[in-house]
Amino acid sequence: MTELLYQTDSYLKEFDAIVRESFLDENAVVLDRTAFYPGGGGQPHDLGTLNGLPVRKVGKGADEVRHVIEGSLPAVGEKVHGVIDWDRRYRLMRTHTAMHVLCGTVFRDYGALVTGGDMEPLKGRMDFEFERLQKELVSVIEAAVNREVEAGRDVRVQILPREQAFQIPDLIRTKINLLPAGIQQVRTVEIVGLDLQADGGTHVHNTREVGRIRVTDYKSKGAINKRMYIEVLDG
Ligand SMILES: [Zn+2]
Repeated sequence: MTELLYQTDSYLKEFDAIVRESFLDENAVVLDRTAFYPGGGGQPHDLGTLNGLPVRKVGKGADEVRHVIEGSLPAVGEKVHGVIDWDRRYRLMRTHTAMHVLCGTVFRDYGALVTGGDMEPLKGRMDFEFERLQKELVSVIEAAVNREVEAGRDVRVQILPREQAFQIPDLIRTKINLLPAGIQQVRTVEIVGLDLQADGGTHVHNTREVGRIRVTDYKSKGAINKRMYIEVLDG
C-alpha cells in the first residue's frame, strides 16, 4: 500500500521513499509513499523525476501507485528521491480549484448539477445538466465565479469515515453514493461557503491563488446537457 502524501499536503514538491515493488514489463516501481498524483477526477497524473530519471506516467492500482520511469529501475528496498514537475502541478491545482468554484457557483445560482469534467494545465471543460444555459448567461456566470475567486475563500481538505461523510447533505448531490462499498474513508474538498465535494485531487489553499477564470466557450450537447470551457489566467 502506498501512502498518498499529496492527499494531505498538496504543496509537497519533493519527497524520499523506499521502492517496494518493481515491474519490468512496464518499467514501473511502487513506493512506500508518494507525492505523485496518479490521476483521477478529471485531473491528469503528475510528471517529474525519481532519482533524476523522468517519470513518464503515474497510475493507481488497487491500493498502490505505479510510477513508470525512463531508464534503469531502482532495486526493491532502495531509497529514492522524487521531484514533482511543480510548475505543471501548481497550474493543475489552480485549474482544479477553478473547476470546483465553477461547479459550486453554478449549483448555487442555478441548481445545475455537474455530470463530468476534464482538465489540463490552465484549461478545463465541465458538463452540466443545465437546461437554461444560453449565451447570455455565460458572461454572468464568468463574473460570478470571479467574484468567488476574489472573495479569497479557504479550501479545506478532510478525510472522514464513510458513515460521517454520508451524513453531509451537500455531498449527496455530487453522487457520493456511487463510491464503492469497500471505501471506508472519504476525502472531502470544501471551498468554504461555496462548494463541498468528495474529491481525491490536489487543490490550492485559497481561491485567490486561482488567478482569473475566463469562460471561453459553451456547447449544447442536447436540451439538458451543456458543456462549458474555461481558461485560468494569472490574476
Ligand atoms: Zn474535483
